[in-house]
Amino acid sequence: MTLAIDGGTPVRTDPWPSWPPPMDDAQRALVTAVLDSGQWGATQGGKACSDLVAAFARRSGVEHGVAVGNATLGLFAALRGLGVGPGDEVIVPAYTFVATATAVLLAGATPVIADVDATDLHLSAPAVAAALTPRTAALVPVHLAGSPADMDPLNAIAARHGLAVVEDAAQAHGATYRDRPVGGLGDAGVYSFQSSKAMTAGEGGLVVCRAGEVHEAVWSVCNVGRTLDGAWYGHPRVGWNLRLTEIQAALLLPWLDRLDDEIDRRNAFAAAVARDLPPEWASVVPQPPGTTRDSRHLLMLRVHVPFDRAFLLAAMAAEGVPLDGGYPPLGTMPALAEAGARTEPCPAAEAAARDVLWVRQAMLMDDPAGAAHVVEALTKVLASRPGPGSG
Ligand SMILES: *Cc1c(COP(=O)(O)O)cnc(C)c1O
Repeated sequence: MTLAIDGGTPVRTDPWPSWPPPMDDAQRALVTAVLDSGQWGATQGGKACSDLVAAFARRSGVEHGVAVGNATLGLFAALRGLGVGPGDEVIVPAYTFVATATAVLLAGATPVIADVDATDLHLSAPAVAAALTPRTAALVPVHLAGSPADMDPLNAIAARHGLAVVEDAAQAHGATYRDRPVGGLGDAGVYSFQSSKAMTAGEGGLVVCRAGEVHEAVWSVCNVGRTLDGAWYGHPRVGWNLRLTEIQAALLLPWLDRLDDEIDRRNAFAAAVARDLPPEWASVVPQPPGTTRDSRHLLMLRVHVPFDRAFLLAAMAAEGVPLDGGYPPLGTMPALAEAGARTEPCPAAEAAARDVLWVRQAMLMDDPAGAAHVVEALTKVLASRPGPGSG
């Protein structure tokens, strides 16, 4: 079969769903109401941000939350609110978005890049144990691709060594671990509403937490150092304005009512790919132990035969089934090393950067025909060419 990149017929010519989906009626009504109210900022008395925070805290199984401008700032505020700062080391996984590490730098602390599990690609508890030093202050497990990190062993290490745990839930709105929602599994959890995420207002973020004193501290960091019941010009802490707007919250609040249907849709797509992909060619990256609901932000595929990465990505795009090459390991980024990040040995993240490709969220919103296109195009392209080094 001639590949589309060589002039053959593409597997798919229909467009994939766009992301974000068009605004629905409930969003339009609430955004319009907020715009008409003139209360566009969260300090003016409007309720969209506070309702969003309450809904996310409830869904995360905790009491408190703070809405912020984006998840990078949310991770920063959570770390700072938990007392992490200069002189501290914070362990982050090697296979994640760069912001997990740059948020640590923003807090003045040192990111320590530890390897991920070779199978599920989430932060590895043995790698964390090996990376501990007397200066380790916190862990930032990432609920990668929408599946929860295996939190029990990570929380056990944290408890043994008195470490704070900040969950990076930027990709995992609605996911659960051992039937408990992400966000409420550590000391604080951070969601993102950036354009690519499962719920978006263009930009945005939200920190959830269980303890009242953590809430007070994180809220203060995000509200120019004020206290919850203190004076407007009272600033007992150092803080910044990191707030979300009411308009953004109005886009997000109605989304919670359809989030679970969208997650189901993505899981149906993923299940069809997992069922039909020939295992000798490629397979779906398995979820960590304890996953009870995967929010399927991304579908990660591991290729089991030798292949030329640049060619495969170009050939898949030509077939009308574009895949994403995924993350370079954080330890390979010179900017992080120059900023003082320390990198542990990360063979599993390096293997993932070679062998793992992603189907992006927008495509996962398609119907099962889309899953068949992924399987057909990938097997067509893999079967067509010898891998690197084989001539
Ligand atoms: C998107 C993302 C972030 C950063 O979120 P922003 O809202 O863009 O700041 C952090 N961590 C992970 C894992 C992400 O995917």
